[in-house]
Amino acid sequence: MNIPFDNSYARLGPSFSAPQLPTPVAAPALIAVNGDLAAELGLDAAALRTPEGLAMLAGNTVPDGANPLAQAYAGHQFGGFSPQLGDGRAVLLGEVIDQHGNRRDIQLKGAGRTPFSRRGDGRSWLGPVLREYIVSEAMHAYGVPTTRALAAVSTGERVQREKGYPGGILTRVAASHIRVGTFQFFAARNDGESLRTLTDYVIKRHYPDADGPMELLRAVSAAQARLIAQWMGLGFIHGVMNTDNMAVSGETIDYGPCAFMDDYDPNKVFSSIDQMGRYAFNRQADIAVWNIAQLGSALLPIMGRDEQAAIDEATSILHGFPDLFKAEWLSVFRPKLGLWDAQDGDAELIHGFLDLMSAGAADYTNSFRALTDDPAQTLFADRAGFDAWKTRWKARLQGADPAPLMQQHNPVLIPRNHQIEHLIQAAVDGDYAPFHRLNAALMHPYADDPGLKDLRQPPREDEVVHRTFCGT
Ligand code: AMP
Ligand code: MG
Ligand code: MG
Repeated sequence: MNIPFDNSYARLGPSFSAPQLPTPVAAPALIAVNGDLAAELGLDAAALRTPEGLAMLAGNTVPDGANPLAQAYAGHQFGGFSPQLGDGRAVLLGEVIDQHGNRRDIQLKGAGRTPFSRRGDGRSWLGPVLREYIVSEAMHAYGVPTTRALAAVSTGERVQREKGYPGGILTRVAASHIRVGTFQFFAARNDGESLRTLTDYVIKRHYPDADGPMELLRAVSAAQARLIAQWMGLGFIHGVMNTDNMAVSGETIDYGPCAFMDDYDPNKVFSSIDQMGRYAFNRQADIAVWNIAQLGSALLPIMGRDEQAAIDEATSILHGFPDLFKAEWLSVFRPKLGLWDAQDGDAELIHGFLDLMSAGAADYTNSFRALTDDPAQTLFADRAGFDAWKTRWKARLQGADPAPLMQQHNPVLIPRNHQIEHLIQAAVDGDYAPFHRLNAALMHPYADDPGLKDLRQPPREDEVVHRTFCGT
């Protein structure tokens, strides 16, 4: 495999990462190679599908020019600080410059133990690999910033969890894997020099217009406001917004216990370990502020000599987040209701629809879509309430046809939990067809393809998934 690596993170120095080769696996087999992404990266997808390519994707060989390493980071997990987490089961092979001139990480997730593995086995089973492949690629299709999936392979080895499962490795591509927790790692060690190096590096790589750490904080805050508004528009619940799972690039990262809602419940939680609802659907913007506050604290030592002035300015950035988020939220939801311009009262109109949906536990995705595709259909128990809302909505539309805009902003398809569970079960039994079918369908999530009607269906009662697991 000839890959033109240029490994800038490795060059930052030994405090940032530990050299780590992937650990070879017994009998790798290819599940999927993402041809479009390969092309975007300037890689030869056909070569990735050869035995030589497979050996690389499985970690059995290391391509020329790679500089495999495990990245160091810290993080607040459910509010408690761990000064050292790091890549416990991921190995960064290196970086390439893509066709648009952007630097992208290529990482093998599930590639064996690293110095940061603690008690973990460094592996992943097929479930999380396929879930991340499906969901991250769907996110990309919706236009939401996200890490990508370049490939999935099975390892031919068993991974022991509650029981034994087939092992897998995901090749993840990211604008970078630098997290809020990466900054915290150095702040917690009082390593100001590395903190400065990291800050300069992140500014150059992600926010070249930002002038110093304060402007970086502002830029990260704006990116998160946009990102989380986009999640809300899709009914997406990340599930584990620990500071080590918030990428400073603004991409969605870590698809462990994530889920798309079927029935709308603003307080919805899926993750089995989120017992307090810290990462519930409608708390995601608040949690982002909490996380950005941790980034601000980490950056404080390098923000300049007048600490009080720095604290005041950082605080004003945090206090500015709700307004920023509200503006992004409106720009996501207006077109979902066919509103092409901004008017006073739009937030109330949108909330009116959301409230009807939650009162009737209506399907989030299908309710938005039904407004245009099947307007006669009543998804709401409160028929009179819906009719009253519809009258207000029609008046706001002033006779314009909202359908074209709405059909571009309301997906027909989401990766529903029960479908993901089903395809994982099939894959464990050796049948990858449901995985490939859902993945292909989700490449065009706004298209109303009659052959895919079954994928629009919410789960039957006996199919409903109530809990998701980090699953590792
Ligand atoms: P996550 O909950 O996915 O954000 O992971 C939290 C931390 O646990 C990170 O440092 C991971 O690298 C580490 N980790 C998760 N699963 C494993 C595993 N199977 N082996 C080693 N480390 C792991
Ligand atoms: Mg993580
Ligand atoms: Mg994870």
